[in-house]
Amino acid sequence: MARALEPQRRLLAVYTGGTIGMRSEQGVLVPGSGLAAVLRSLPMFHDEEYARACGLPEDTLVLPPAIPDQRVIYTVLECQPLFDSSDMTITEWVQIAQTIERHYGQYDGFVVIHGTDTMAFAASVLSFVLENLQKTVILTGAQVPIHALWNDSRENLLGALLMAGQYVIPEVCLFFQNQLFRGNRVTKVDSRRFAAFCSPHLPPLAVMGTDVTINWELVRKARGKAQLVVHSSMERDVGLLRLYPGIPAALVRAFLQPPLKGVVMETFGSGNGPTKPDLLRELRAAAERGLIILNCSHCLQGAVTSDYAAGMAMAGAGIVSGFDMTSEAALAKLSYVLGHPGLTPDDRKEEADAIREALVPSLACAAAHAGDLEVLQGSDLSLESFNGQTPLHAAARGGQPGAVTMLLRRGVDVDPRDEDGLSPLLLAVKGRHRGVIELLRAAGACLSLQELEDAGTELCRLAARADLEGLQSWWQAGADLSSPGYDGRSALLVAEAAGNLEVVTFLQNLKGGAGVQAPGPATL
Ligand code: ASP
Repeated sequence: MARALEPQRRLLAVYTGGTIGMRSEQGVLVPGSGLAAVLRSLPMFHDEEYARACGLPEDTLVLPPAIPDQRVIYTVLECQPLFDSSDMTITEWVQIAQTIERHYGQYDGFVVIHGTDTMAFAASVLSFVLENLQKTVILTGAQVPIHALWNDSRENLLGALLMAGQYVIPEVCLFFQNQLFRGNRVTKVDSRRFAAFCSPHLPPLAVMGTDVTINWELVRKARGKAQLVVHSSMERDVGLLRLYPGIPAALVRAFLQPPLKGVVMETFGSGNGPTKPDLLRELRAAAERGLIILNCSHCLQGAVTSDYAAGMAMAGAGIVSGFDMTSEAALAKLSYVLGHPGLTPDDRKEEADAIREALVPSLACAAAHAGDLEVLQGSDLSLESFNGQTPLHAAARGGQPGAVTMLLRRGVDVDPRDEDGLSPLLLAVKGRHRGVIELLRAAGACLSLQELEDAGTELCRLAARADLEGLQSWWQAGADLSSPGYDGRSALLVAEAAGNLEVVTFLQNLKGGAGVQAPGPATL
């Protein structure tokens, strides 16, 4: 999706509190009101002359032009009361979602100004509460107040306004330190540095530098013209329990008592925990009562697997793998699934099973992505993940030739499309997983006409960056490497202009040799 080019784009900036607007009172920082007035006094946030010429109301500001002929006009809605985000809960986040819903028709995008301490929770919850988004929603905040001489507030807020004002990225995102992340993939990792957040398992959706680079292949596609739905019935009785060496079974038992309905259990390494029989007994008993236990690793990188005997799978089938979810996202998802009308555990086993399935719709996808052939062997391959990805998508994304081979042998569809229209072959190309590309091509997978059409611009980008492996992956997948990019230039011309000799030689050899088209099944 391209940059939105209407002459005026209107945003709603919902100011909920946080350091960004805080002031010092008796030596401590407290939430501060009047952010709009502060922004109005800063030329980078407001062009008074333009505002006057347009007769904009008092609470509405306009950014100076970032690109010719386009203005980002934004209204700051200050919440009452303002919060240090440590005090925010699901209730406040649902209210934010309802505010967005109330104003959805009037604005082109939304920025939520929020404290950083719980921003990853907020972004995760909003990503589940707001369904069918067609507009950009970006959370941002700062580590140092906007009043300070040296601060990150201005850069973060301006970046968020520009991203939401200029691009249609129809999902809940978090913008910090020049990077736009998927909201339910982030975690706060630093309380002092300006780079406060990281997204351990998903690259940024966009990076703002000299240019704005958007990873469109990662950006979720809007689903047709479906109406925005706000899921306000989130379950509040969910909890987070971090295992530690020697944790007493009695403590776990006390924690897991009703009214708790679901718990995210943070485990060691790839999903392991103590194997003491009394502890496992407590976990099993809780799962049998219908309590949903979602296993997430407290490691930042890696995922929950079934590699170890100490894996939590030992505690019984009732424990669901959270795979690579952050604890914040897992808690939000648990709250969403348990709050879903029609999915109430009520001690009834079938419903508890349905909830487990909804939480991790496909264990097969997790196993395929991790290349865990043992689990994959025994998994139901018909289940898709939340965005319609099949185990083959997951195996291709994870670059797992073993899993791909096993799935193909089991007769899965070689060219399925997920809800965003992506195929396993395209995911393998993006990941440069040459072995997987080869297997999929040999099984008859082809890039779609649309994928082939879109390839030109991507090929030019790879050529400019001297990314030979990327180009080879596209070629191997059957793309026509002479396809022009958006400006009509081919990858070869771009590589020549950039002086990327290795790429030039590769592309010239293809041209002069067997043809630019890769061998193999037809490419439509
Ligand atoms: N305690 C503050 C908050 O989360 C921290 C921040 O905004 O950076 O509201």
